[in-house]
Amino acid sequence: MTVQQTLADLVAIDSVSARSNAEIISYLEKRCQKLGLATQRFSHIDENAVEKINLVAVTASRSKAPSFPTSQDSDGAFQIELALVGHTDTVPYDPNWAEALTLTARDGKLFGRGACDTKAFIAAVLTAVESIDLTNLTKPLALVFTCDEEIGCLGAKRVADAKLFTTRYAIVGEPTSLQPMRAGKGYSLAQVTVRGREAHSAYPQLGASAIFRAARLIEKIESIAESLKQDQHSDFDPPYTTLNVGVINGGSAKNIVPGECRFTLEWRTIPGQASDRVLNLVRSAVAKLQQEDADFTCEIDAARADDSFETSTDSAVVDFLEDAARKSPGTVAFGTEAPSMITLGAEAVVFGPGDIRVAHRTGEFVPMDELNECGSILKRAIERFCMGPA
Ligand SMILES: [Zn+2]
Repeated sequence: MTVQQTLADLVAIDSVSARSNAEIISYLEKRCQKLGLATQRFSHIDENAVEKINLVAVTASRSKAPSFPTSQDSDGAFQIELALVGHTDTVPYDPNWAEALTLTARDGKLFGRGACDTKAFIAAVLTAVESIDLTNLTKPLALVFTCDEEIGCLGAKRVADAKLFTTRYAIVGEPTSLQPMRAGKGYSLAQVTVRGREAHSAYPQLGASAIFRAARLIEKIESIAESLKQDQHSDFDPPYTTLNVGVINGGSAKNIVPGECRFTLEWRTIPGQASDRVLNLVRSAVAKLQQEDADFTCEIDAARADDSFETSTDSAVVDFLEDAARKSPGTVAFGTEAPSMITLGAEAVVFGPGDIRVAHRTGEFVPMDELNECGSILKRAIERFCMGPA
């Protein structure tokens, strides 16, 4: 089956994160089993009572049959040489977008939801594996198809937590226009709730405005953002940890002194900086405000802290992709599944066809030439890493 037909099949299966990914997993499972790969599903029920599945498919090496150890069985963890990782879920699509689930070719581009992010990479993986005589592999290859990437890389985190295998190298699919991305910023999120005391606004002295308090805290957070520019990692654009207050809500009426104000605080940490550095700076800003106003109350709920990652420029997988794609390695500022693969021992690179700037929008597409080239690069990657002396 051609890479384009495979991509059409994948796009036709609606796999937005809110739905179960069982249908697309069944499709991938069948394709993998036809190739003689050993497959295993790792299924769970999410908080909305929807079944979510991670699928791991491995080649049988000559020396050792594949097995899937449980988390308790760390001694027997199956050692993979190369893992190719793609997420099966997509962001939602506008119901008026007629091509969302019908892959459509136009001007050398293939349009559809997930065509770019990240079903193109998965189609390239399947095509690459199908074009190889797997009996020639001397070291195990794993295909890892995850759930819930678009809502926080949740599937890959489960794979990492369960220690399903260890792997020497990982290529994590994401649209990078075939540029190998060897490092990524971390991603953290906190919900901040500042409390005050309600009162009639004609008598503000009887209350305490949560919004004025939040404003003072946010001003300090803006200074923290400024100070973070001192600490630089030159491979990133911008080369420092960035910070954003993206949503703010507070108060209930124009003539009530507001009793509560909530805002979200998000930050993207450069590698080498602790992911809780921003949180600690915000906490000391709160402590300072409490010195000026003993009544200042604020809760910080640190909802998410995804690590940054960095793979050395000397890594064989970085080197290989740099040569194969003829593009020097870069970095990404968005969250990926690479840190989870690093937890499993990998030297990890983010790589795939399509441009992240056209992902997540109506009219998402992947250029056909990049899709084809990705398939042939992945084929060579499998030959480079999984053939030769075991
Ligand atoms: Zn993606």
